[in-house]
Amino acid sequence: MTLDKLRAWKLLEEISFVRVAGTEEELKAANILKDVCEKSGVEAVIEDFEIDMVNISVAKLEVLEPEYHEYHVIGIGKTASTPDEGVTGGFKYIEDGSDANITDVEGKIVLMQGRGTPELYEKLQKKGALGYILIAGNIYEDESIKNELRPSNAFGKDHPIPGVKLHITDAEKLVLSKPTKVKLTMQAETVKGTSHNVVATIPGTDLKDEVIAFSAHYDSVPYSKGSWDNGTGSVTIMELMHYFKEKGTRRTLKFVWCGSEEIGLVGSKEFCKAHEEELKDYIFNINFDMTGVTIGFEKCCVTASEDTLHAIEYLAKVNNYPLSADLGTYSSDSTSFASAGVPACTFARLNAMGGAQIHNNTDTMDRIDPDSFMITLEFVALFSEQIANASVNPIPRKFADSVKEKLDAQKKMFGEPEKEKEEEKKEDKAEEAEEKKDE
Ligand SMILES: [Zn+2]
Repeated sequence: MTLDKLRAWKLLEEISFVRVAGTEEELKAANILKDVCEKSGVEAVIEDFEIDMVNISVAKLEVLEPEYHEYHVIGIGKTASTPDEGVTGGFKYIEDGSDANITDVEGKIVLMQGRGTPELYEKLQKKGALGYILIAGNIYEDESIKNELRPSNAFGKDHPIPGVKLHITDAEKLVLSKPTKVKLTMQAETVKGTSHNVVATIPGTDLKDEVIAFSAHYDSVPYSKGSWDNGTGSVTIMELMHYFKEKGTRRTLKFVWCGSEEIGLVGSKEFCKAHEEELKDYIFNINFDMTGVTIGFEKCCVTASEDTLHAIEYLAKVNNYPLSADLGTYSSDSTSFASAGVPACTFARLNAMGGAQIHNNTDTMDRIDPDSFMITLEFVALFSEQIANASVNPIPRKFADSVKEKLDAQKKMFGEPEKEKEEEKKEDKAEEAEEKKDE
């Protein structure tokens, strides 16, 4: 038995449905993946974890003067709610929120592009801005997408002022209409939900104490079937599971299908937390996020050392695999493993300019194909087989300085406690027996 392109494609079709974090559909996908593992004789478990789910009951943007107009917006989760009657004030388009753009935002509702850093939102609050409007979408999209603004949560820490999202075509209209008085109303609450990781294990033989973890998130964003992002990655690691189940390896292999990646890498963070003790035995995390796009190119982001980057580049070259690889952090589950001390990488096949899109209703089977899908899979099967069976672990447990800096910056951005504070917290936990962790 070797890699089976058609088996992979059949499973991909089967899981190509909207499967948002914390929903029944996400659990349905988890069960499909678990069943496939078990049918092929590999033990798999579903590990539950708690997530924050945001219920937005009201999100409304009205221009009151010079002429009344209501725009279709959606609320951004984990931003502040307004009073019931909303907040009313002036308006300013602050572009990307540079200092020159935010000198006079007091009493205003601001429109901005990009997603902004937590520091920017703090600055806006200090300067007296009442709320913010983020620009979403693409000016050339058809109406069907325009009405499907993607729900999302505050980037980084919770935001101190209310935020909503507006489509770019409406943002253009809004700026041109020169509003003098606008009203923003946002009501949201955060409730607890449950999401799931699926974890399968193939025990190794003489080197079974060392573990290689393959990972891929299987959840999608709302309105998206997520065939490319990340049905393809999910099916890639399933195919690797079939492959190695037949062949056997000296090291132990873990296959982790992560839930809730799209709401902030939550599944992989929870996996690393729940398996903290074991992670010292994990020598490498090989993650996949989006492969198989027809018009695209092969990419590997290495969150490890220069040595590991060079090893991957060398093997790609000798196998004539056209790979663009670099050191860095990828906004996917490999970052969680690396943050927990496990060298990691993400393989992806990214789109050419003007090509396939993700995070909307166009992410279907239409832009991907089985042959392009196999390009990444075939190389990784070869690459990971060598690591899984090498007499000496070829992946040093270290990180390039540039990678360390990026990991630290991200921890800061997402408001994660530093190591020491974490330790203190644990002690508090033991004493008080009750402590809620703030992510
Ligand atoms: Zn993804």
